[in-house]
Amino acid sequence: MSSFNLDDHIRKVPDFPKKGILFYDITSILAHPQAFRFCIDSMIALYKDKQIDAVAAIEARGFLFAAPFAVNMKIPLIPIRKKGKLPGITLSKKYDLEYAQAEIEVHQADVPKGKRILLMDDLIATGGTLNAAREILTAGGAEVPEIFGIVALPFLNYEKILAPTPITTLIEYFSE
Ligand code: AMP
Repeated sequence: MSSFNLDDHIRKVPDFPKKGILFYDITSILAHPQAFRFCIDSMIALYKDKQIDAVAAIEARGFLFAAPFAVNMKIPLIPIRKKGKLPGITLSKKYDLEYAQAEIEVHQADVPKGKRILLMDDLIATGGTLNAAREILTAGGAEVPEIFGIVALPFLNYEKILAPTPITTLIEYFSE
């Protein structure tokens, strides 16, 4: 597992979605079964002994990794979505983006009270979205003992906003 170079399977797209941003694209992982399997197997190895009761993932790319992980681990998947997408009663949280505000939601009935939820996304940048997601899960009565991302951009200081929750990622990049 350690000899596998995940970097080879992450497409870097300059100036997307706007000038100055280097976009780390995980669709090239999905297109390579060996790379996709490496990610899911790594997640299972990391969390199989950590008493995780459910996985919560952020729309939309987080779902792609959380779904096979949840099936393999035989645990529930809790989708966290942008405002207005979930039809049932929701818990929601507004948070700040660079120039705007965003809002995410989760179905209140799907948040298991007192249970340990692994929270994840494909990529952790500022950590703002995961922070808001952690807040709605804990407001719903769950615990978030671990946060996971496939890709991490630590120079954006997500560790500060997400402390004290332990964060694990498979690959880190140090510039944008
Ligand atoms: P953040 O809340 O800043 O941690 O990032 C929120 C979302 O933006 C994550 O779900 C990432 O998928 C996406 N994102 C932010 N920056 C990048 C980037 N440089 N490349 C790819 N995705 C990004």
